[in-house]
Amino acid sequence: MKKAIIAAASVGMFAAGYAIAQDVEIATWSGFRKGAASFTFDDGAPSHVTDAGPMFKKYGYKATFNVVVNWNPNWSGFQGLADEGHEIASHSNTHGNNMSGEEASSKQAIAGKINQKYGVITVAYPNCNVPNESAVLQNYIVGRICNGSWKGMNDEMGKDGPSNWAQVPATMTGAEGQLKSTNDFTGRMQKVIQSNGWAAFLTHGFQGKQNGNANYSPTDINAIDGALKWAQQNDKDIWVAPMGHVAMYLKERKASKAEASTSGGNITVKLTHNIKDNISNYDYPLSLRVKYSGSSANVTQAGAKLESKIDGGYVYFDAVPNAGDIVIAGEGGSGPSPESSSSSVSESSSSKTAKSSSSRSNPWGRSSSSGTNPWEQFISSSSGTDAIEDIAFTNQHFSVYRSSDNYIVVGGAQGMPITVYNHMGQVVRVTRGLGFEQKVYTGAKGAYIVRVGNRTFKVSL
Ligand SMILES: [Zn+2]
Repeated sequence: MKKAIIAAASVGMFAAGYAIAQDVEIATWSGFRKGAASFTFDDGAPSHVTDAGPMFKKYGYKATFNVVVNWNPNWSGFQGLADEGHEIASHSNTHGNNMSGEEASSKQAIAGKINQKYGVITVAYPNCNVPNESAVLQNYIVGRICNGSWKGMNDEMGKDGPSNWAQVPATMTGAEGQLKSTNDFTGRMQKVIQSNGWAAFLTHGFQGKQNGNANYSPTDINAIDGALKWAQQNDKDIWVAPMGHVAMYLKERKASKAEASTSGGNITVKLTHNIKDNISNYDYPLSLRVKYSGSSANVTQAGAKLESKIDGGYVYFDAVPNAGDIVIAGEGGSGPSPESSSSSVSESSSSKTAKSSSSRSNPWGRSSSSGTNPWEQFISSSSGTDAIEDIAFTNQHFSVYRSSDNYIVVGGAQGMPITVYNHMGQVVRVTRGLGFEQKVYTGAKGAYIVRVGNRTFKVSL
């Protein structure tokens, strides 16, 4: 076993006579990757919306954008980034020398402007000056400083995170920073892959772009593009995710207990933690693996289907702590979902898919009578390879997007039904939102429509 994997718990329940102990492990980082990297952007530059957003979308990665309330950032533009799964976080109200006194008020002000399911959970300090730490920790799960080395710390963190969550380091990029070229970024990512650690980067504006007040230490955007391209090529080893998401995962992983037992041919896993604060629900999915000898498995949590994969004698899946029992059933097992999680679809599951699709309305809207069917317009206008478009109109903000490892990810849909349709209008996946975000389909490339409640999104894998 590599160090990248934390053995969480291995509990046998022998009392029933047939129950067998099962090994269950919680991954150090999401997807059993070896290291984590977070890209953060300060000062709410116009170019963050116009240039950084599309660049991250190209690779399926998400970042953290720390905005300054009184600098009147492009709120609708940053709302669009939030809807695509990015984190919008605080960088104070006024960008004074020290933000003490603005810890709670800047959080509230941003929360009033940006609708994101998990709220404003991280803050970056203006001018790298640490404000009132207790006020920070009452409002945020991360308080971000600048280079760790400027404070006699390391620039990167280990797998257990920072020694002080009010002083989380991020390395400055650009003209005045240590990271200027793609190689500078990839060097840091290689370092945390080797150490099972976490690196964060701090970028302001970009050279030659519209940066507004974010004019300190401009970074060559091509250096970051190259870094993201490298990350995607090494996606099995490096987890690129926003600061708040990585922090949630890390805190949950350290606090969670996973217990598995076998009974009646099914494996049941209980994944729980006791973290309590007023900032986050800590319901970011954790990656788990359980020793498994079968060739296919149907994994559910509280009855909702989870994506899973079998490899090397384990079944792998992501599950949400405190969201109910996880049941792993073999082929023909008694799991509640009718669908096979195997990538090879059997005839029986195909016919089930066809049957279920015929009983549902087809969101692709093949039968257009008026000629103004929005679904057909939608289909004919979609040409991008990773375009994700929201064509419904309500005030609730979900995020639906393609992840870097080619899953559809739905965020902010706790308790809501989620249905994935293929380009034929057939239902390929039915599940329900469990936690902060949920993977709902993987496998064949193509265009899919994702219905969350009464809203509909398109995702291309
Ligand atoms: Zn700043």
